[in-house]
Amino acid sequence: MILSIESSCDDSSISITQIETNKLIYHKKISQELQHSIYGGVVPELAARLHIEALPKILEECKEYFPKLKAIAVTNAPGLSVTLTEGVTMAKALVISLNLPLIAVNHLKGHIYSLFIEKDEILPMTVLLVSGGHTQIIQANSLNDMKVIASTMDDSFGESFDKVSKMLGLGYPGGPVVQEYALKGDDLRFVLPIPLSQSPKIEFSYSGLKNAVRMQIEKLENSEFGMNEQDKYDICASFQKTAVLHIVQKLKKLFKQNIPKNFAIVGGASANIYLRAQLEELCDKHNTNLYLSELKYCSDNAAMIGRVAVEQYKQNDFILISDIDVQSRIKELVWA
Ligand code: ATP
Ligand code: FE
Repeated sequence: MILSIESSCDDSSISITQIETNKLIYHKKISQELQHSIYGGVVPELAARLHIEALPKILEECKEYFPKLKAIAVTNAPGLSVTLTEGVTMAKALVISLNLPLIAVNHLKGHIYSLFIEKDEILPMTVLLVSGGHTQIIQANSLNDMKVIASTMDDSFGESFDKVSKMLGLGYPGGPVVQEYALKGDDLRFVLPIPLSQSPKIEFSYSGLKNAVRMQIEKLENSEFGMNEQDKYDICASFQKTAVLHIVQKLKKLFKQNIPKNFAIVGGASANIYLRAQLEELCDKHNTNLYLSELKYCSDNAAMIGRVAVEQYKQNDFILISDIDVQSRIKELVWA
């Protein structure tokens, strides 16, 4: 079995995965959403402090599996350096005390392998990763051959939901609440510009859309009657539609170049029902198989890290405790 630790942002999570069968023997996650909500976003120092409390608490529950462990895995990039450090430090301590090899896992590969938790892997696949920190299209051929073919120039898809939510005073994370509000809204009421719609390039941008929403909110707030709940619903509906249409437009361009046989949406924001529905339609039209992670595995978790770790273990892909480092960003476009 492999014990895997995830602490790249605001979720403290540990999993235990059986190597031969991919079976998830144990999985727990303690989320810090409530504690960060009042700030409208994740406060790194607070997140690090909460990991120090939560991770050992979860680890206590795993003690019975220690004799069966063959390796320790941990997310080391990308993420908040101060929170990644908490997970990596715990992993190092376990490696020393239990005399086991260490596996360093790329968090984004983890999001991709969330599709394969307790399952066999299906690759090659073209993947849309939509999360708090990323909006990317990745051509995933195998674990060691993944290439980023498109990314965002500024904000990410999930982040834009968080910022709209903050502007409307709806708390953090923004995705689920904006989606809820959008259900009650009229998505035709506000006409917002679809980002980069005239550009032939396949890339993303969300800062312009965010600013357009900000201007619309200011206009409503300064109007005679101020902003009411229905205005908020309508803003959320119009924003969500535009944010998703931006992705659909760019994917249509991609599908024109090359229709993928297998396509997947992963990352925390892949839970968005409107996005899922639109991409189901697109894939249906092109006879492309669409893969989605289970909702509980869309946001950060250690089960997905464990699923990657199993593959790395089979490849003897270990790292020395003196060599592991945390990285807040992954700059390489090809992940080996
Ligand atoms: P990264 O994986 O890029 O390092 P992260 O780990 O912080 O970033 P995730 O936990 O994968 O991000 O996803 C969190 C993001 O997903 C938040 O921005 C949140 O608002 C967004 N999100 C969650 N549910 C939804 C939803 N239903 N609609 C839109 N966005 C959503
Ligand atoms: Fe993530």
